[in-house]
Amino acid sequence: MRIEQDLKLDFKDVLIRPKRSTLTSRSEVDISRDFVFLHSQHKYHGIPIIAANMDATGTFQMARVLARHKLSAALHKHYDDAELLAFFGEQPESPPAFYSMGITQPDYDKFCRVKEQAGDRIQNVCVDVANGYTKAFIGFVHKLRKAFPAITIMAGNVVTGEMTEELILDGVDIVKVGIGPGSVCTTRKMSGVGYPQLSAIIECADAAHGLHGLICADGGCTSPGDLAKAFGAGADFVMLGGMLAGHDECGSDIVEKDGVLKMRFYGMSSREAMEKYSGGVAEYRASEGKEVLLDYRGPVEKTLKDILGGVRSACTYVGARQLKELSKRTTFIRVSQQLNEIFGQS
Ligand code: 5GP
Repeated sequence: MRIEQDLKLDFKDVLIRPKRSTLTSRSEVDISRDFVFLHSQHKYHGIPIIAANMDATGTFQMARVLARHKLSAALHKHYDDAELLAFFGEQPESPPAFYSMGITQPDYDKFCRVKEQAGDRIQNVCVDVANGYTKAFIGFVHKLRKAFPAITIMAGNVVTGEMTEELILDGVDIVKVGIGPGSVCTTRKMSGVGYPQLSAIIECADAAHGLHGLICADGGCTSPGDLAKAFGAGADFVMLGGMLAGHDECGSDIVEKDGVLKMRFYGMSSREAMEKYSGGVAEYRASEGKEVLLDYRGPVEKTLKDILGGVRSACTYVGARQLKELSKRTTFIRVSQQLNEIFGQS
């Protein structure tokens, strides 16, 4: 047994210190990014925020609305071949959605079938496992990269620099970072495993950038300010589940409780998800996600406006004319309080 004594931080532990700036308005800030992915060599231009590949947020409807605003969605993996082909057959959007998969043989076979028919319309894939430290996961990434040299691969999740480096050397373009911070995730509670998300982003971004790879900070954002902190910490992309849940574009029904409209939202490893897709929770495992009932929030566009406005505002405060400059201009200060809660938390 060993104890690491270095302090590791979460979004709630820091604020971004303002800096002198010549910017006069948020409208002068450009929050899009341009990347050329290391392995696929595809060019990307867009606002690097991605809807999570959960069945509530990784929907076709969400992908279409986000694409109109230059954001992306990682589609959930439970669509069937025909649905995926119809979606990817639509007018090419910019930036395109991510096709998501796990690492089982049926996942791989399904991808091969759909990709063969969809051709270059599928450019981006997201290989998603709860634990990105297994040999099986690394083996799968190798196999996928070898078979599809030209696709952009986002894969995870991991939280440490050495595993980020390993994945980039194995052919991953974007390493997905985050174990346990998610809004409906119970991994930390059930297993005691995790890593404070801000430190994970800082350490993994540093490792990735040293090899010209990229990272996507996945999970734990509860407000636009958290996205600003994630980008400030070095994230190239940020993935959102809970913040995009509860909207019209989500794949959940609206229910009424005590006269208030609500929407169900659950983790993809929750009992609810496993019952829906895998016929229940297997004997040997516990669920690592929970279900919550959220207030219904209408169309996602207004929420998007708030998120993009918040990130633009952060850039203005530190004098970053482009999102690309935000991490260079970020100094975090450790704090013991974030908000004045005299009138509640919102
Ligand atoms: P959020 O933005 O809601 O805080 O986090 C979204 C992320 O939580 C997802 O992208 C995914 O990585 C993670 N996640 C989703 N469902 C589950 C689950 O059931 N268990 C765990 N451990 N993580 C989940």
